[in-house]
Amino acid sequence: MKQIETCQNCGSKYELTSVRIHHREKDSLFCIVCGFEYYIYNDAKSWYDKLIERHENHLGSKSKII
Ligand SMILES: [Zn+2]
Repeated sequence: MKQIETCQNCGSKYELTSVRIHHREKDSLFCIVCGFEYYIYNDAKSWYDKLIERHENHLGSKSKII
């Protein structure tokens, strides 16, 4: 199963691929562009992400990062 997620901080897009695992796992994925924790999951799946579209909206004038 695949799905597309967008980092809410910088706008980069990732293609996520899930792999079924036997135990319930809580984990999260971090954006490699800005470091934002853009996807948090808690189920019997493990997710692997692949950057498909790089955006750097967080570097723009609207950035709230200090
Ligand atoms: Zn990001």
